[in-house]
Amino acid sequence: MIKGEAPEMTMRTNHPILERLMRENRLDGVLFWGLENVRYLCGFTGSDGVLMVTAEERVFLSDSRYEEQARGELEGAEFRRYRRKIEGVARLLRSLSARRLGFESSAISYENYRSLKEKLPKVTFFPLGREIQRLRACKRPDEIAKIRGAIQIASRAFEETMGRFRPGSKERSAADHLEWRMRRGGGEEFSFPTIVASGARAALPHGRASEKKMQKGETVVVDFGVRFQGYHSDETQTLILGRPDHEQRRIYDIVRKAQERALRAVRPGVSVRQIDRAARRVIDQAGYGRCFGHGTGHGVGLAVHEEPSISPRGQGIVEEGMVFTIEPGIYIPGRVGVRLEDMVRVTSRGCERLTHLSKELKDNIYPR
Ligand code: ZN
Ligand code: ZN
Repeated sequence: MIKGEAPEMTMRTNHPILERLMRENRLDGVLFWGLENVRYLCGFTGSDGVLMVTAEERVFLSDSRYEEQARGELEGAEFRRYRRKIEGVARLLRSLSARRLGFESSAISYENYRSLKEKLPKVTFFPLGREIQRLRACKRPDEIAKIRGAIQIASRAFEETMGRFRPGSKERSAADHLEWRMRRGGGEEFSFPTIVASGARAALPHGRASEKKMQKGETVVVDFGVRFQGYHSDETQTLILGRPDHEQRRIYDIVRKAQERALRAVRPGVSVRQIDRAARRVIDQAGYGRCFGHGTGHGVGLAVHEEPSISPRGQGIVEEGMVFTIEPGIYIPGRVGVRLEDMVRVTSRGCERLTHLSKELKDNIYPR
């Protein structure tokens, strides 16, 4: 939340998923250690602090460096200062006389967990893993607007970089240009190190841009994203430098079909696995099942990878308001790779594609 904007009531009211977790697990409170959830629940955008939520109150704790910022940003939470984090948190928990406490088990380090347990021998610590990450899966309209803002910056930057994807240019220099444009367009940070992977390197699903020069006839996987007002974008284009050969065309068509099938499967009420299966089946049936080793998609928001996970082992049901990627790919080691990634928002009947760069093969033949 930006200072000066109208406060939103939705952030103040307790979150239904959080209330249910507390009720079902008979928790006196939940301790949030991860900065994304802290920001989500009380508006603090700084880089250190914890949030304690009970049925009656929310207390945000941090040190003096963040006091002024926190007092300006906090919504529906009171500020308390500590000098040393663990002591401060322990003191608060003692004063609340919490007996059974939920905590973000994926965010707190083992060291910190152990120190807290030592200081509070009477408290039962109850780990909340994936279920607590589900809190942020359905996006509010103000969050969707920020995600759209991030996508806008990233796609404009991509369009301004198109001329840099040409035989003889280095992957790194195309990535540098794209990143510079994303920053200049208002991006706060990159979602991850930009991927520009050409030729055999395109078969590395996370091939960071290198000093390699792109060559005529190669495919180039470009995966990029930017953060705007805390929210991320994530999109992948696969470009072909010159006329696609038979294998490139075949693989591109299969990945595109897999992506279309998955997009069509998205609607409230289906399981995340059904969406994964819709994409995977197309690739399996074409004989490339072993060349698609990652999940079909992931939630995107305050974190670039968050719930839900659209994968064979993903759990849960798709709900209206969720935002996630659909990104099937085929990677043939040593030869070629194709991945196509879009972000979608789940609507009442299906989904809306939030990213808007064309995934049609004819629009991805370069140089342009
Ligand atoms: Zn991506
Ligand atoms: Zn992604």
